[in-house]
Amino acid sequence: MRLTALSALAASLLGSTALAQEVNVYSYRQPELIEPIFDVFTEETGIAVNVAFLNKGMVERLQAEGDRSPADLVFTVDIARLAEIVEAGVIQPVESEVLTADIPAEFRDPENRWFAVTSRARVVYASKERVADGDITTYEDLADPKWKGRICTRSGTHEYNVALAGAYMLHHGEEATRDWLEGLKANLARKPQGNDRAQVKAIWSGECDISLGNTYYMGQMVADPEQKEWADSVRLLFPVFEGGGSHVNISGIALTKAAPNKENAIKLMEFLASPEGQQLYAELNNEYPISPDTPPSDLVASWGSFEPDELQLMDLAKSRPPALRMIEEVDFDG
Ligand code: FE
Repeated sequence: MRLTALSALAASLLGSTALAQEVNVYSYRQPELIEPIFDVFTEETGIAVNVAFLNKGMVERLQAEGDRSPADLVFTVDIARLAEIVEAGVIQPVESEVLTADIPAEFRDPENRWFAVTSRARVVYASKERVADGDITTYEDLADPKWKGRICTRSGTHEYNVALAGAYMLHHGEEATRDWLEGLKANLARKPQGNDRAQVKAIWSGECDISLGNTYYMGQMVADPEQKEWADSVRLLFPVFEGGGSHVNISGIALTKAAPNKENAIKLMEFLASPEGQQLYAELNNEYPISPDTPPSDLVASWGSFEPDELQLMDLAKSRPPALRMIEEVDFDG
C-alpha cells in the first residue's frame, strides 16, 4: 500500500509513468469483453492495464498525440480497421518468438504489425419453428426469392456486413455481388436497423425468419435473462460461400509506435496469445481461439463445427472500400 502510494507520488512528481508497472490500451472493443481477461493478467504479473474505450477516431487520436501518446496497445475488431490503423503509421512491428509460435501465420501480419487474438464467424440465425435444417446452406441462398420478406439484418454499412460483402466480392466479383446485395435487400422484412441481437429478437417476435449475426452473440444472449428467450427461438446455421467456407473475421491487437510501456505491452500481447489467454477469450467471450491448441468453449462447440473461409485477411481488408461503395450504391439501408 505504502509502496503503491509512494510510486504513484513519484510518478506524478516526475510527470512520468515509467516507474509504474502498467500498460495502456486504446480499445474499440467493449469493456466487458476484455476487462475480465486483463484482470487475470494483472493478478499474475502485477502489471496494471489501463483502458480507454473509443467509439471512433483512434487513428486521429494516435496521430495527434504522436510520440507523447500514452497508448501502448490498440484493440479492435475487423481486419479492415486493424489494417487502417497499421497503414496510418502509428504502429510498430513486434519481434516476439512467443507470438509467432502461438499465432498461426494466417492470423498475423507477415511484417508483425498486427496479430489476431480471436476469430468469429458471421452466420445465419434461423427460427427453429419456421426454418428447417438444410433450407439455407450458402450465403448465395440469402438472395433467393424464397426468402422474400423473411430476412432481418443490421445496417449494410456496419463493418460486419461490409466485410461479408467484401468476401462475397472476392469470391464472385463485383457484378455478382451487386446482384446478391439487391436480392438480399429485396428479401428484407424491414429496413436494416438495430444490432445483431435485435434481429434475433425480431425472429423471436415473428417479424422475420432468418438473420445475419456473429456467432458470439448467441453466447451473450444465452447469458442474459431477457435475451435468453430470443436465443432459444433460433439455431445457428453455418452457411458457406459456393466454393468456399463460412465467413470469418477477427479481433486483433497492435503495438503503438509511441508505446511508453513497450515491454509490458508485449507481455500482455504474449499473454493473450498464450494457451491461458486463449482459453479465457474462449470461455468468457465465446469467440473462437486462433490457437489450434485451444478448443472453443463447450457452449460454442455445441453450435457445431464449420469450415472457415480461407480468404487472406489482408485481401478482406482491401475489399472494404469497393464493398462499402457498392452497399451505398444499391442503397441497401434505404
Ligand atoms: Fe460485435
